[in-house]
Amino acid sequence: MRRAVAWWILGGLLLAQVAVMALSLDGTLFAGLVLNAVYLLPGLLVAGRAWRNPGPDRAAFGFLSAGMTAYGVANVYWYLVVRDLDPEPLVSPADGMWLAFYPCFAVALVLLLRRRLPRLSTAAWLDGVIASGAVSALVSVPLLATVDPSPQATLVGVAVNAAYPVSDIVVAGCLLGAWALCGWRAERTIILMIAGMALFATGDAFSMMLIWQGIDPWPTWIDLTWTVGLTLLALAASSSSPLSSRASLPAVSSVPSVGGPAAGLWVSTAVPSGLALLCLALLVYEALADHLAPPVSSCLAGIAVAAAILRMILSVRSAEALGAARRQARTDDLTGLANRRHFIEHLDRAIAGSEPCLSVAFVDLDRFKEVNDSFGHDVGDSLLRMVGDRLRAALPDGVLLARLGGDEFGLIMPGCDAGEAGTIIENILCTLREPFALPEVDLHVDASVGIAVYPDDGTDRPTLLRRADVAMYAAKNGHDGLTFATGLDDQARARLTMLEELRTGLARGELVLHYQPKVLVGSALEVCGVEALVRWQHPVRGLIYPDDFLYTAESADLMRHVTAAVLDLACRQIRSWHDEGLPISVAVNLSVSNLRDPEFPAQVASLLERYDLPPSALELEVTESVLMTDADHALALLGQLRGMGIKLAVDDYGTGYSSLTYLQVLPVDDLKLDRAFVSRCTTDPRSAAIVQSTVQLAHSLGMRIIAEGVEDDATLAKLYEYGCDIAQGYGIARPQDAATTTRWLRSHQIATLAA
Ligand code: C2E
Ligand code: CA
Ligand code: CA
Repeated sequence: MRRAVAWWILGGLLLAQVAVMALSLDGTLFAGLVLNAVYLLPGLLVAGRAWRNPGPDRAAFGFLSAGMTAYGVANVYWYLVVRDLDPEPLVSPADGMWLAFYPCFAVALVLLLRRRLPRLSTAAWLDGVIASGAVSALVSVPLLATVDPSPQATLVGVAVNAAYPVSDIVVAGCLLGAWALCGWRAERTIILMIAGMALFATGDAFSMMLIWQGIDPWPTWIDLTWTVGLTLLALAASSSSPLSSRASLPAVSSVPSVGGPAAGLWVSTAVPSGLALLCLALLVYEALADHLAPPVSSCLAGIAVAAAILRMILSVRSAEALGAARRQARTDDLTGLANRRHFIEHLDRAIAGSEPCLSVAFVDLDRFKEVNDSFGHDVGDSLLRMVGDRLRAALPDGVLLARLGGDEFGLIMPGCDAGEAGTIIENILCTLREPFALPEVDLHVDASVGIAVYPDDGTDRPTLLRRADVAMYAAKNGHDGLTFATGLDDQARARLTMLEELRTGLARGELVLHYQPKVLVGSALEVCGVEALVRWQHPVRGLIYPDDFLYTAESADLMRHVTAAVLDLACRQIRSWHDEGLPISVAVNLSVSNLRDPEFPAQVASLLERYDLPPSALELEVTESVLMTDADHALALLGQLRGMGIKLAVDDYGTGYSSLTYLQVLPVDDLKLDRAFVSRCTTDPRSAAIVQSTVQLAHSLGMRIIAEGVEDDATLAKLYEYGCDIAQGYGIARPQDAATTTRWLRSHQIATLAA
């Protein structure tokens, strides 16, 4: 309330000042009161603001009010003491008080800015220097260049009188700099302050010229520039923004410009550059026109240009650093190719571009894992680098090659339809087939490639990538190297969906085991073990049998995980059976990838240890065909497992082509005769003959023979007759869950577990 009254009084005083001037009332008591009060009141208003608001800006406004009050007091002193002296001195104590205003103002400004802009970048400060230097230089030229001190002026007189407009200009320049620091946004406080200082500068400049030209008295309107100027400063102090709310400041980045929001970005670079250019022009002009500009202006211009040069160096350096960081963030460390991020950005741009079509390909190396496992990661890394180099060399210009991670590469082929993309891929598959000469070995590499074509297979990135990925998996499954997403049938897609579900299913523990007992062929039907058969408890589709998902799992390199899960479940079950007094052994089926995994025996050993089981509690079954795919590796690995005391069986015997010599060297305990022969041995004489001779063969090699697929008593009787050791089949018991199997085992005699 009192503040409002004070503002009204100030307004009234300004009007009264105009009246004094218009009616030539100078010299009266009224004029004396008005002309001094109007100078004093703005400073007091600011002091009041500092007094009332004890916030962190109190010191700043304290300084501002001190400066303004000094200005007012100087005026009172001049009015009462100096004005009536004859001749009026060019310099008096009043000047000291008037000039005291500027340092106070400068301190206030620095305090205000320091609190608001604590984390300004060097670039921002340089912008401030450019703006203040340039504006001061440019404004000082017309002001200082035209005045010509009168001959009777003393040096001190000239310096003191020139100090006003020069200080005004410097302060106005600083304000402009502050404005630059705020990102050149129109803030009321700054604009009010700049307007106030501009009025000051006008008044001071004119009065300086008038003094030097000996004109007295001055036109009365000059006083208004100061009083209105002071009023504007008081208004600026009472309006609480820019310099007043942190939130209103733009985010100040360290590189490369101070500008905040995008709209201000242009201004934030154009304004300092433009100002610096003007200063440069001033310096050039000054050099050519032979010292036309005052030295102060040239110095200021020089400072601004120097700041601009620094600013430019800084910008270039930050741009360079930014560029390097950007390149690094978009490059694959190992191969130097583009990385996944670059690939995705490039694809987005290509899709948004004007190409009528483009193709995306995923290239996945086959059996890369084996290279890593067998020769170590260093060899694997070298191979990846060589593959990257070779691919790059084989690709036409304009095709982007990226390493997406692991042994997967991505290609973006702009402007290529399916046919053209196919040609490019056939070409790179061809170059890959040449062996890679690594220090230890020459390696052959095959790859599976999936291609998706824009716009036929999809018009957005996620769809294109998904379909290229699906096509690549299809290529892996189909073993034909290259698959187009377009040609994929629904079945292939369903299979790939299942694969994804299996991955998550494995993680969630959706695999379960059923157990099928094996019995000694004889009158008592003693149980000599059970076979663990995996099932997938699918959350939607229910129980899924191994034939429906194991092939897919194998082709996607998931079998290691499946076997690991099965072995763990089996060992846990053995442990609990042993604890319940059921000393049973469990057979687990292995897959191709287990026999190629050199770490597999160690994994088995650690499982046995974890569940505290004798190795004889575990039997491992390997099908004949699996044994034959990688005979050498298989042999070595099986030898290791058997050496640990684990029993081994050849599964599905009779369906493959294992030779007798091979069987002789195989370190196995049991032969499991395939159910194709067993189930027919009562009806088909040829099958009966095969069963009979196989039993003899097995016994002659010191192996036991297990007949699987025994569905009835007649078959069991025949097997007994042929001397078969063990039988397994629906006729004895179906595979059942653990609880049912436990009950079944309790009601049967268990043969003692061979150590
Ligand atoms: P397999 O190892 O030959 O397992 C025997 C399969 O024959 C089982 O089918 C079993 O349910 C079935 N079977 C048992 N007795 C009879 C019978 O009297 N008549 C008929 N017609 N069939 C009988 P399942 O459980 O569907 O397993 C199929 C194949 O899946 C297995 O053949 C095995 O090769 C594979 N498999 C099962 N579990 C695993 C596992 O945990 N790991 C691996 N790698 N393969 C597994
Ligand atoms: Ca089996
Ligand atoms: Ca079998």
